[in-house]
Amino acid sequence: MATTNGVSNGMTEQCDVCDTETLHEVSIQLVTEGGDEDTAQFSREPYRVRECIRCGHRDSKRMNNA
Ligand SMILES: [Zn+2]
Repeated sequence: MATTNGVSNGMTEQCDVCDTETLHEVSIQLVTEGGDEDTAQFSREPYRVRECIRCGHRDSKRMNNA
């Protein structure tokens, strides 16, 4: 665990790899997106990261669709 900056819990969600609903570990992480250093502090976007407990498949989704 590199960072605990966010909530973490288990949720049952659809896994594309398992092709069924499995337990996922879900966390919210702030990701600094690429850009100028001057604006880096303004480009931290919350991502919803989830990892399938069963197969280990991991994906992240940007929460703010700007
Ligand atoms: Zn899975």
